[in-house]
Amino acid sequence: MTELNGNELRCTGCGIALQTDRKDAVGYAPPSALDRNPVLCQRCFRIKHYNEASSVTPDQGEFLRLLNGVGATDSLVVHITDIFDFEGSLISSLPRFVGRNGIVLVVNKFDLLPHGTNPNRIRNWVQQRAKEEGLRVEDVLIVSAKKGSNVDRLAETLDALRRGRDIYVVGATNVGKSSLINRLIADYSDLDAELTVSSFPGTTLDLVRIPLDDRGAVVDTPGIVYEHRLTEAVPKSALGSIVPNRPLKPVTYQLNASQTLFFGALARFDFLEGNSQSFTCYVSPALDIHRTKLERADALYEEQRGDLLQPPKRDQLAELPPLVKHRLRIKRGTKTDIFISGLGWIRVNGDGGAEIDVYAPKGIKTMLRNAMI
Ligand code: GDP
Repeated sequence: MTELNGNELRCTGCGIALQTDRKDAVGYAPPSALDRNPVLCQRCFRIKHYNEASSVTPDQGEFLRLLNGVGATDSLVVHITDIFDFEGSLISSLPRFVGRNGIVLVVNKFDLLPHGTNPNRIRNWVQQRAKEEGLRVEDVLIVSAKKGSNVDRLAETLDALRRGRDIYVVGATNVGKSSLINRLIADYSDLDAELTVSSFPGTTLDLVRIPLDDRGAVVDTPGIVYEHRLTEAVPKSALGSIVPNRPLKPVTYQLNASQTLFFGALARFDFLEGNSQSFTCYVSPALDIHRTKLERADALYEEQRGDLLQPPKRDQLAELPPLVKHRLRIKRGTKTDIFISGLGWIRVNGDGGAEIDVYAPKGIKTMLRNAMI
């Protein structure tokens, strides 16, 4: 907390207590900003002067209190997720928190799927997955904030569904929430109006209200940190290898039983039993995949993690949680993805069924799902 003459300093835009230590946390302001009048946190400053939303991260408890507060409003909730880490970025408990308010599910980063992917098929897949996860939604939109695709459709949909109410935007970190809000602000907001404080009773977190042309507003909530995502668990220097920044180029391996794939030193895939079959890896093109024999895999990992098997580099290995094993059985005739949150997925094309061990860092969400593509 930052003080001036013994008084706690608060942002005049959103009301949050200011701090000058942690750039990515709520209430951050550079020390030089404290002398300005009015004093604004960096997040409000950027929205006001550059039409730019930026992300901040509260702890999970604060975030859940904040979601509860949304339930007490009459509003439209826009939940933004990332198609590359769909299950990792999905807030499946959202309906419990937002009460009777409708939810629009927005799936961002469509541009990362392989060229030629049909957005309607992805939309059907998302609808099905959301239902299975217990998330009832009013609509599903597949967009790319980066390319601007389908963003006009999103704006129209929100306009039609919000009926003059406020829009609350919620999402996990790095799903592209700020990028999308920036596009919406540019098209829809009247920034001559002052940013206003919106705080729920019982929360220490205040929200940024971005006024729209009518009486409503887009309310930006801080991004939730999910520790079950690999992107939250790896050393920062490894992010460049696992977060794709161009379309995925799936790589197919024809494997016999007793063969192993390593994904850097971050994950391991052992094909234990089943007919020779193909497995297609949807991971960042910047991530090295290394194939070996199962009988050599333990020794290779011992000797080469941090060297041949990277990321992480040897001196950062200690930052990575230890790999834990998940035994998976793929039924004959099913099209299945083995999903590792933040790393991507491996599509099992097998018609013959397969028994597989997947190793992923402890705590990272690892699961089977119907194949996306
Ligand atoms: P926030 O944390 O949810 O507010 O996300 P940001 O808007 O800060 O974006 C997080 C990262 O995702 C940044 O590196 C963006 O460049 C990237 N990003 C945002 N939208 C897209 C998109 O549509 N496609 C791709 N490929 N990357 C995106």
